Amino acid sequence: MDGILYGTGMKQEVAGDVNKIPEFDPRSGNHFWMILIGYRCDPTKMKSGEQFIMDLENLVTTAGPFCFYCEEVYTKTLASRRCKGHGH
Ligand SMILES: [Zn+2]
Repeated sequence: MDGILYGTGMKQEVAGDVNKIPEFDPRSGNHFWMILIGYRCDPTKMKSGEQFIMDLENLVTTAGPFCFYCEEVYTKTLASRRCKGHGH
């Protein structure tokens, strides 16, 4: 992925899981484009309620954009087609 990541003022809670991805809707066929960003962490040093700092020091990988449902990497051609959903 080429580009610039802006993280100033970004805050991510460590406790709990985040899942805001809507279920695939075969009627709409809409892709769900996302970029995966990975930060190295040490779970043994994380304490509940503490802020996890995401910056260039612990950024280890980026991938995408890709569709969460069909798991295909973005292309203009793919984006012009309906998403087939999981397992396709
Ligand atoms: Zn898709």
